[in-house]
Amino acid sequence: MGIGTGVTVLGLFTGPSNLQFEMKGHMSTHPVILPIFLPNLGCRERCLFCNQRAAPEELLSPSSVRGLIETSSKAWMIDKKGGEKQIAFYGGSFTAIHRDDQVRYLRELQPLLASGLIDSIRLSTRPDALGEETLSLLKQYGVKTIEVGVQSMVDEVLFLSGRGHRAEDTVSATSQLKQWGFEVGHHLMIGLPGDSCNRFLQTLDRIIELKPDFVRIHPTLVLKGAPLENLWRAGKYSPLSLDGAIQWLKKGVLKLEKASIPVARIGLQPTQELERDFLAGPYHPALHQLIDSTLFFDMAKHLLQIHEKESQAIFFCHPKDLSNLKGQRNENILKLKTHFNLNEIFIEGREELPRGTLRLKTQGGEVSVHRKSLVF
Ligand code: SF4
Repeated sequence: MGIGTGVTVLGLFTGPSNLQFEMKGHMSTHPVILPIFLPNLGCRERCLFCNQRAAPEELLSPSSVRGLIETSSKAWMIDKKGGEKQIAFYGGSFTAIHRDDQVRYLRELQPLLASGLIDSIRLSTRPDALGEETLSLLKQYGVKTIEVGVQSMVDEVLFLSGRGHRAEDTVSATSQLKQWGFEVGHHLMIGLPGDSCNRFLQTLDRIIELKPDFVRIHPTLVLKGAPLENLWRAGKYSPLSLDGAIQWLKKGVLKLEKASIPVARIGLQPTQELERDFLAGPYHPALHQLIDSTLFFDMAKHLLQIHEKESQAIFFCHPKDLSNLKGQRNENILKLKTHFNLNEIFIEGREELPRGTLRLKTQGGEVSVHRKSLVF
């Protein structure tokens, strides 16, 4: 699938969305990713939710890849803070393109790997386009990370979404990728036709068994030009509401956290193209943060429900969680005050508290809850 990966866009360089810097996740140990978008390249199917399509002249040719990266290397060096530097081929199904074309793209990167300008390569593809011969080729050319478009582990959802592969393809692809020593990412979607919260949670149970190195989760959006647009206009598809998506996602995020599987991103990266093409669905530029805030609201509610009420409440959390506790535009605080009829809520950061923990001061002492202990 077309991927808006990472969380921080560091700079935009050329062409219509072909190249932009990203920093993955919030941790400095994560690589800085330079994505090269090859829209729809190698795609055999037309997935219902996808509107990626580039005219041939807009596609970045293998010969122009290296020049583009070298031109951008100055900004790369300025922006990079000592982490791993990865080039990523996104936007299509890289391993489904002709073998000779894969080699042409990968060969262009070899001098950059040899000179140390880049450290490794990542790419996105479909789970049914990863045979032994392909994996051997990718290893030979320095590919380290493979992001697999899983979307769902329910065959009916995959079929209704026009994916053209089955859940078992993800099982065998992941097992092969691990045997070959690749880092594996799974892309999941919620709210596809035929999907439900239970089906999403069942999908996560199967994903947890497969133990990918990270996952990304994107709510299904209706985009201009995607086949889903026609279904939506005909009243045959209704996207999730933003609140509905948050309810599914908070359960999913906790499930993955308990299984120690990192969630690299939730929601598509905000881009000009997305803003231009967005028609309907649970889009929010900071969806991950909304989920974290919702979890803090649930924790605060839990603590206030079971402990003696006073006219005010004093909460403590890690300083980096203060914005999650407050919620966007102080929304959590305002809602809690109204719900529990409180005159005042005080919040204070405490370095010694682990991230994801909320503590309430009560007459009998202090009581804490961690987000992983929430049950929905
Ligand atoms: S595999 Fe499907 S979602 Fe991904 S780029 Fe191709 S058509 Fe779009």
